[in-house]
Amino acid sequence: MQLSDSVQYVKGVGPQRLKLFHRCGIFTIADLLYYFPRRYEDRTRIKPIAKVRLGEFETVKGKILALGIRKTKNNFSLFQLAIGDGTGIIYATWFNQDYLKRFFKKGEEVIISGKVGFFNQLQMNSPEYEIIRSEKERIHSGRIVPVYPLTQNLTQRFFRKIIKEAIDKYASALEDILPAYVRNAERLMEIREAIENIHFPRTIFLQERARERLVFEEFFLLQVGIALRRQYLKRLSGRKKRGELTHRTLTHRFRQLIPFKLTQAQERVMAEIERDISSSQPMNRLVQGDVGSGKTIIAIYALLLSLERGKQGVFMAPTEILAEQHYFTLEKILFPLNINIALLVSGLPAKVRRETIEKIRKGEVDIIVGTHSVIQKRVEYKNLGVVVIDEQHKFGVEQRQELRKKGLNPDCLIMSATPIPRTLALTLYGDLDISVLDETPAGRQPIFTYWVEEEKREKLYQFIYKQVKEGRQGYIVYPVIKKSSNTRLKDIEENFKRLKEIFADFSLSLLHGRMKKEEKEEVMRRFARGEIDILVSTNVIEVGIDVPNASIMVIENAEHFGLSQLHQLRGRVGRGKFKSYCFLLGEPKTEEGVKRLMSITSSQDGFKIADDDLKLRGVGEFFGARQHGLSELRIGDVLKDTQIMQRAKKWADALVEKDYHLLLPEHQLIKRELRRRFGDKWALISVG
Ligand code: ADP
Ligand code: MG
Repeated sequence: MQLSDSVQYVKGVGPQRLKLFHRCGIFTIADLLYYFPRRYEDRTRIKPIAKVRLGEFETVKGKILALGIRKTKNNFSLFQLAIGDGTGIIYATWFNQDYLKRFFKKGEEVIISGKVGFFNQLQMNSPEYEIIRSEKERIHSGRIVPVYPLTQNLTQRFFRKIIKEAIDKYASALEDILPAYVRNAERLMEIREAIENIHFPRTIFLQERARERLVFEEFFLLQVGIALRRQYLKRLSGRKKRGELTHRTLTHRFRQLIPFKLTQAQERVMAEIERDISSSQPMNRLVQGDVGSGKTIIAIYALLLSLERGKQGVFMAPTEILAEQHYFTLEKILFPLNINIALLVSGLPAKVRRETIEKIRKGEVDIIVGTHSVIQKRVEYKNLGVVVIDEQHKFGVEQRQELRKKGLNPDCLIMSATPIPRTLALTLYGDLDISVLDETPAGRQPIFTYWVEEEKREKLYQFIYKQVKEGRQGYIVYPVIKKSSNTRLKDIEENFKRLKEIFADFSLSLLHGRMKKEEKEEVMRRFARGEIDILVSTNVIEVGIDVPNASIMVIENAEHFGLSQLHQLRGRVGRGKFKSYCFLLGEPKTEEGVKRLMSITSSQDGFKIADDDLKLRGVGEFFGARQHGLSELRIGDVLKDTQIMQRAKKWADALVEKDYHLLLPEHQLIKRELRRRFGDKWALISVG
């Protein structure tokens, strides 16, 4: 009998029930042992019946004094036990479960746990029960009882029995994946003991110890996988040939061209990138910086460093508008340097596009700015040195894979405006080095953020009127809720008409995702040139747009936006020298919604906001379900168990450093487990 055998070999699991187990993701006996409780109920405290409190969850123990079934007025059948312990009598009742009668006998001792009610008599409805035959073997009551996340038709009671059976019969076959040297140094429980105590802990302390051990194991495996991948990438690219760094004129002159003083954070990150690009291994770096922290300068610096080695650079943005904006920024600031810069987006006329691609192939362009089509389509590079990926915290991983598939292994710089806590970043992007731009440029004004009540709408419009009169520009943003809800778009169009009347003196324009691309871009361009005063839009403007003269952001139905989204939207203003404002309208219907608006009004710090966002939404939703090895986690919580994560990472890194091929005998089980989880290419484990 093996742990990898089907769960149907466990006594009590018939072919019928097997399907239900499958639905919970339980196929093997090992799966069963690793199916952890969602929570526990402490039923150790048995109370005298005379002492139970109404409305509380209590556990009592007594003799069955009487039992029977009767019909209620509305024709339910009610099965009842009268239980007495010498201090009082309490009734256990179940509706429409006559079959239960077979299980109980008058005179037997039982323990019942449940919420105490009173209907002419003390009563518990559908309590958990356990008939005491042998004092030692209690699993449903009189102890800390596990509660599992189950699908319908599998009862807690049944499931507990199966787990108990599996532990008794098979736990002895469990082998400890953690090497003894790690377990001892970290003082972790042994696997068998941990599995027993995670399901049926004798004390809360033991349950916590068991959990610690299992969380550690989970993180440890994940981190070994990440460390292996990191090593693999390093070795793969060890052969990388660097162009000689012949001259530093470009970066030196660029520094002189920057019209402001760099922040210390910018200087630091630039030095980090310079070190990467000078080393023999390709750069794989993530720059996390809040909106407005000045990431574009960093990107340009990386592109120029590559150019100084005679290699082309690609600057990739998620939208055409943004790519175009970057293109113009580069053209403007790099003009004196005489560099060939090309824009490559699908919106180009076919002829221009063809010529551009040709120039790229021949090496006649130095820097290519575009959307992700620059790496996907048949674009060949003469000599690609660096790829900078802007605003793509979610997709950077995939795009690097895309590049590698093309046989390219350039330096990669990924820039993200959705900063996430460092430990989590290390897990998610375990094969990336991380730089943090934790400083906003001096002189940047805080953005005054208010949650505005509906009654103050008039006042708000007056305020906007005044601002625009003074020459400022503003955004009014509406959410589009679902693709299907045409009505919403109609709402925006309706509102747009109304706003045009209110702000009749100004130039307003509408911008939404259903407009043609050219139209959208034209509107954006006119807004950037100051020809449009107020842009009424959906969240299409969320990413990256930089119009320093815009100082007002109004967000309608703010409760429909995620926290990071709100922060990104707000980041569209406060980019110039003008005092800027963000107004949120909306009435959240959930507590979470209220918390989001409170968080955004009380903080400007992107890291803090991302942290709140993660906590409010949970990791899965924050990153999308399919993301990363994290979906594999059954017990560890990347947000709460960061300390265990760090400990596990330390050991995992050391292990891979010492034994990359996992040849040592004490690492064989790890190898087997990684293989089981990630298939044969376990050294290529994709965390992305
Ligand atoms: P991000 O991409 O990080 O959101 P940007 O690179 O678009 O930020 O920079 C936002 C604005 O701040 C731009 O107008 C940019 O020119 C300006 N900027 C960048 N760095 C500095 C600095 N050190 N001092 C002053 N302004 C800066
Ligand atoms: Mg940017």
